[in-house]
Amino acid sequence: MKKTTIISNAEYLREATKMLGYGEQEFQLLAGLSREIRVELPLQLDDGSIEIFYGYRVQHHNALGPYKGGLRYHPTVNIEELRWLACLMSLKTALVELPLGGAKGGIDCDPKLLSRRELRSLTRYFVQKLHRSIGPNLDIPAPDVGTNAQIMAWIQNEYSTIYGHSPAVVTGKPVIVGGSAVRERATGQGVAIVMNEYARHRANELKGTTAIIQGFGEVGRHCAIDLHNRGVAIVGVSDSRGGVANKKGIDIGALAEHQMKAGSIVGFEGAQPIDREKVLELRCNYLIPAALGGIIDKSLAKKIKADVVVEGANSPTTYDGDVVLRDREIVVLPDILANAGGVVVSYFEWVQNIQQLPWKDETVEEGLSEKLAKACENVFAVAMGQGCSYREAAYQIATKRLKDALWTTSF
Ligand code: NAD
Repeated sequence: MKKTTIISNAEYLREATKMLGYGEQEFQLLAGLSREIRVELPLQLDDGSIEIFYGYRVQHHNALGPYKGGLRYHPTVNIEELRWLACLMSLKTALVELPLGGAKGGIDCDPKLLSRRELRSLTRYFVQKLHRSIGPNLDIPAPDVGTNAQIMAWIQNEYSTIYGHSPAVVTGKPVIVGGSAVRERATGQGVAIVMNEYARHRANELKGTTAIIQGFGEVGRHCAIDLHNRGVAIVGVSDSRGGVANKKGIDIGALAEHQMKAGSIVGFEGAQPIDREKVLELRCNYLIPAALGGIIDKSLAKKIKADVVVEGANSPTTYDGDVVLRDREIVVLPDILANAGGVVVSYFEWVQNIQQLPWKDETVEEGLSEKLAKACENVFAVAMGQGCSYREAAYQIATKRLKDALWTTSF
């Protein structure tokens, strides 16, 4: 058999295929990609100069449904990482039993350095080059790092100028154009729901425990708010500019207000300043990386003083880091489970757009809790039955579902 382009960082998937008794051929097909697209985006900046950006979309598998995954605007965006993130999306949608596949994309730009006009033109230009490869039944992008509801609205509008009104082409849109009010908080809220299910599974309570959160963006902030409301003391938070810590627990509402005004958590007076890396080494029950990937490497994994790592971000733990955490018996609630709340609510948004029938927010929130509780139950049962880690359990469930769909549709 000829080899396809294999995703990098596929060790977790390889382990799962071995545990399921699959051979190399199955691994190659599961780790292979359906399609990857790279487009050149020359943009005239406000000062008249021209800068060339590159846009990407990687589509992993669509055996279970249309490709689904975020668009990232960040200077470090590169095809290698997107390949793995696209695969991660296929596994995530499979784990939570959504009729969707996996994809990921982005542009190698720093949105903070672009004006609103530049960002809008770049986004519209990206859609002009990509429109044949996305669509409500083909590939449905969503926000990710550096993108937001506004960018989704521009994508929807540009796509609709070609194909007619198409709200279901993206999720994570503003509510006024068919988005869900729950979507923005769904991933962070989902992280808290998964933690609560884990605590219940261990016959414990979340209330009275402590947590540290890396990243105070869409995922980290909403996770902090939800946990704070559940009685968890958030004893440390960091963002790209620095960290803050308070042993007694941070007033998260006040921190969010400060961040709104100052653009960062740095300078918040209700906590002590601390280096953004050092905050991850403080003692806590739950450490929640909710920023970028690859943060918990071998070196950091040796220094962590948490009982449980909850992967709010995608792929925050390197394979080497994971081995150290396993050796140190630090529990990991893996990304494809812990941060699946976002894609669950994206799925509900897509369904509502297709039906042209909005649901009540309570219906969306109930559905979110139900989906995540069911996925947790499945993962905890496999882990208990096999005596394996939650990551190994989650990957096995997702990989088997993906493999069954792929074989049923292809051979
Ligand atoms: P975001 O851009 O809204 O927020 C990222 C946060 O991380 C910001 O507060 C930023 O300051 C901080 N940060 C960046 N570098 C840092 C560093 N070195 N140390 C500490 N903080 C740092 O992004 P987001 O949407 O919250 O996504 C965060 C992660 O969650 C990403 O891995 C993303 O792929 C993943 N994720 C997001 C969603 C979603 O719905 N937004 C869903 C699933 C997974």
